[in-house]
Amino acid sequence: MLKGKTALVTGSTSGIGLGIAKALAEQGADVILSGLATDAEADALKAEISDAYGVKAGFSGANLTDPDAIEGMMGYVARDFGGVDILVNNAGVQHVSPIEDFPVSRWDLIIALNLSAAFHTTRIAIPYMKEKGWGRIINTASAHALVASPFKSAYVAAKHGIAGLTKVVALEGAEHGVRCNAICPGYVYTPLVEGQVADTAKARGISEEDVKRDVLLAAQPTKEFVTTDQIGAFSVFLCSPGADSINGAIMSMDGGWVAQ
Ligand code: NAD
Repeated sequence: MLKGKTALVTGSTSGIGLGIAKALAEQGADVILSGLATDAEADALKAEISDAYGVKAGFSGANLTDPDAIEGMMGYVARDFGGVDILVNNAGVQHVSPIEDFPVSRWDLIIALNLSAAFHTTRIAIPYMKEKGWGRIINTASAHALVASPFKSAYVAAKHGIAGLTKVVALEGAEHGVRCNAICPGYVYTPLVEGQVADTAKARGISEEDVKRDVLLAAQPTKEFVTTDQIGAFSVFLCSPGADSINGAIMSMDGGWVAQ
């Protein structure tokens, strides 16, 4: 279904981004992976995807907190792949701390990576999409784009910001065949959440098992983690003709968390 399209998925060396990249590649899209990885790790991931799905795979190790590095990544994609048809803004990190102790450097990093990076990739990618009259932008937001939790000031602020950015880009692209939507997962058991379990245990003075049961899955009525395969499948749907009228939507995949 996506043969002839090029997808850039930021933060795709692990977790949700890798799940989305594989799902898009399975549909025939050429894929550019991004993230913090050694050359050997990046080569292994590229080979895994091109061997499994028979598509062209690229990689950018750009530090997405740096707008100049983002310009460099987008230049590489334009040169080697022609441009981006499907942009998935997914890279993100978390930090858990009461606001009075929240390190200013972590606030700045989370706003730069989880929010501003999506602004930069989008502003650079969208002229090509408008010219072609087709483009799909998917922002990995979070249940925290819709509701808050304590100790996550920067993350919740950035994710609410991503929801707003999604709506603006949806309006600007609407008459040009460009669609922009946000997926809001609940808890997905990825390296990001593994780290968060440890941090939350420390912040709340409870064990890691208690955090999983009483803090994370307590919020998720299904009592199951969302899977990266499910998010990949939903992303594929958002790139399909059946989703052509879905635009500016902030969509939950959280087992019912924000329905409460
Ligand atoms: P992850 O830790 O598995 O992956 C994060 C990715 O971002 C990696 O590829 C990493 O290399 C990359 N990255 C980190 N810092 C970077 C930087 N400075 N420059 C470039 N790349 C960088 O995390 P994940 O859980 O898969 O999260 C992916 C996205 O999903 C994030 O935006 C996160 O907020 C969101 N999300 C995660 C969950 C969850 O429960 N895991 C829930 C809702 C939303």
